[in-house]
Amino acid sequence: MSDDANAPYESAVLGKDGLDALIRVLAEEGRTVIGPTVRDGAVVLAPLESGDQLPYGWGVELEAGRYRLRPREDGAAFAHSAGPNSWKTFLHPQRERQWTAERGADGGMTVTTEAPDAPAYAFLGVRPCDLRAIAVQDRVLASGRYREGGYQERRRGAFLIVAECTEPGATCFCVSMGSGPGAQGGFDLALTEVVDDEGHRFLVRAGSEEGARVLARLPRRPADAATREEAERAVAAARERMGRAMPPVDLRALMGASTEAARWDDVAARCLTCGNCTMVCPTCFCTTTEDVTDLTGEHAERWSRWDSCFDLDFSYLHGGPVRSSARSRYRQWLTHKLGTWHDQFGTSGCVGCGRCVVWCPVGIDITEEAAALQKEREEREEREARAEHEETEP
Ligand code: SF4
Ligand code: SF4
Repeated sequence: MSDDANAPYESAVLGKDGLDALIRVLAEEGRTVIGPTVRDGAVVLAPLESGDQLPYGWGVELEAGRYRLRPREDGAAFAHSAGPNSWKTFLHPQRERQWTAERGADGGMTVTTEAPDAPAYAFLGVRPCDLRAIAVQDRVLASGRYREGGYQERRRGAFLIVAECTEPGATCFCVSMGSGPGAQGGFDLALTEVVDDEGHRFLVRAGSEEGARVLARLPRRPADAATREEAERAVAAARERMGRAMPPVDLRALMGASTEAARWDDVAARCLTCGNCTMVCPTCFCTTTEDVTDLTGEHAERWSRWDSCFDLDFSYLHGGPVRSSARSRYRQWLTHKLGTWHDQFGTSGCVGCGRCVVWCPVGIDITEEAAALQKEREEREEREARAEHEETEP
């Protein structure tokens, strides 16, 4: 958590009903509010119309390749870790039409560029790891040489309400990626949920003028010392309860030193190259384009849609795919995510949300693979040092 004593904006306490008021105020201001709700046996992110759609009383049990809802007695709203979709579903949608073309009476084509669909979103319940993921996608899609206009527009208008993490899952490792469980900035409002003998409430910090303005419209009371202390304690406790951790080494250097590791064969024997890990990952951003025409040939459309580096076609050049084996495709994904992403975008491509671990149908675990690569590297370096020593021995 940030130091409230230095925060330029107001902090306050919202009662349990405060979230309903927050959703109402944001909707009145013309925003499309997206937040967590229970649907199809999971906590998903979807449009919300009222606070009672939030997943009060639901937690989740996570493991590699496993996700289950679990009822909670404390009635908490944000006691669940990352679900199957992320905010990229809204900021960087799965499918988007880019243009349509119609053939005119003279036989010529008129091409109409599609204006981006850019509602004024309010994202309620953004985890700090996902807040970092949005910052990573900002870097990729909204800055630098190649920008994505629709993303930029949606992002510019988005109001971000963080929910600090007090209940990490067994597959979470944000602490070792430096992306949670508390939020330090980059939000409009930050909530920390507190459920104790004093009741169910939320410590709220405004992080922007817009956040402070919205907070001023809500039924609230001044932040008291007991709520602040309990909120800080809950976030600090979450830090100690991470289910997993990345090996504490320079991951970029590890990836660079592991290009010929035997572990790639091991993981390739398990990987189905289904691409689930890339679809659920909140930072993966690759798209491809598809052109479609109707049967008359009078109407054509171009769509962009998410693509995955696990698809054979993804690296297809003339004559065939560059990465034809599962080994080379998994290696590409992991070394990009943890290594060359730094070279391209100045950050890691992984924020430690654990989604790829949970939604991998065969339970491949990015932290386990990185640890195995590190172990192999240490053994290799030990062997090389021993061999060098033996060579120089008189
Ligand atoms: S690591 Fe898992 S989720 Fe990713 S492509 Fe392989 S089998 Fe699918
Ligand atoms: S690589 Fe896995 S753990 Fe890392 S951000 Fe993507 S889905 Fe989350």
